[in-house]
Amino acid sequence: MKYGVNEQGYYGDFGGAYIPEMLYPNVEELRQQYAKVINDPDFKAEYDGLLRDYVGRPSPLYHAKRYSEKYGANLFFKREDLNHTGSHKINNAIGQILLAIRLGKKRIIAETGAGQHGVATATVCALKGIECVVYMGEVDMERQAPNVSRMKMLGAKVIPATSGSKTLKDATNEAMRDWINNPVDTHYIIGSVVGPYPYPDMVAQFQSVISFETRKQLLQKTGSELPQYVLACVGGGSNAMGMFYHFLDDQAVNLIAVEAAGQGVNSGHSAATTFLGREGVLHGSRTILMQTEDGQVVEPYSISAGLDYPGIGPQHAHLYKIKRAQYVSITDDEALQAGLLCSQLEGIIPAIETAHALAYLEKMTFKADDNVVICISGRGDKDLSTYIKYFNF
Ligand SMILES: *Cc1c(COP(=O)(O)O)cnc(C)c1O
Repeated sequence: MKYGVNEQGYYGDFGGAYIPEMLYPNVEELRQQYAKVINDPDFKAEYDGLLRDYVGRPSPLYHAKRYSEKYGANLFFKREDLNHTGSHKINNAIGQILLAIRLGKKRIIAETGAGQHGVATATVCALKGIECVVYMGEVDMERQAPNVSRMKMLGAKVIPATSGSKTLKDATNEAMRDWINNPVDTHYIIGSVVGPYPYPDMVAQFQSVISFETRKQLLQKTGSELPQYVLACVGGGSNAMGMFYHFLDDQAVNLIAVEAAGQGVNSGHSAATTFLGREGVLHGSRTILMQTEDGQVVEPYSISAGLDYPGIGPQHAHLYKIKRAQYVSITDDEALQAGLLCSQLEGIIPAIETAHALAYLEKMTFKADDNVVICISGRGDKDLSTYIKYFNF
């Protein structure tokens, strides 16, 4: 695959596994096993069965009529918000728990920002009766309190990360530390297409079900498998990678990844990684990240916890560098307004992360027969208090 990972774990200049020596056995075991396990027919049957009967896949491809009228093209929403637990994260969590079981692991750890990945992980651990520990930044625990309660109700232990900005990057550091201390019995379920190889490729494969279904659904609805535009928001980049995956080789499809500009790309309070970042190493892979002159990671900012991350996955860094996909950004204000518009035009309250992708429609111009797919990565229930505060409802 032209845009896929090579045997050394790289996408062009990006990727690899930059890890402390003490993590080497864990990552090497995964690297040797993951492709074999996930291509096993028995694995595939169980994975597909759970996606169908437990998650509720295929997720619908909804022709958004009032949006189509407003923007003057055929707009389709890929409804990952309708999945069990409310976002695309469950696609990956199910894949990784089945893999962990086949590797004989007895304990699961995870990091979470918005709490969606933590909830998805706690859910699949309950489903399989496996011990679950989730690391979450103290700040995120406050702004996503309902998800903390959900994880606890599902039987997971939630441990606050109290260093740095007390957000996703710090929770990831804590989870890595736990894994180093528990190398034999523990599997670390990373929630996005980030981390050392093989994680970016493994997570992308689990999320690729999104574009796999979309091609078939588009063919049925429009007579063609290929849209003119595909849009998705990018934190680490897993819903975007899943949405892009099966369109990568079709050059006619314009891929648009929407980052969080926060209060503005030049405000000092932003998470617009490709605009502000440079090449470097973050959380085990070579990628693009926000850093100071001397290589310290810059604290990111976004109103949406799921996009509040200083890097992007290595495959995104590659797609950005070779210009296969376009990387743009949207501010907090633009996203919240788009969330309100989607609620009132389509009756769908989107996650604030998703609202970033929707907001970019305002900046595009379409031809009347363009087909456009937007990945609705999650539902807005978890964000109601943020919306309420902003709009003064
Ligand atoms: C976690 C999350 C995101 C961001 O993560 P990606 O890995 O970039 O997809 C986006 N939308 C929702 C609803 C999320 O929960």
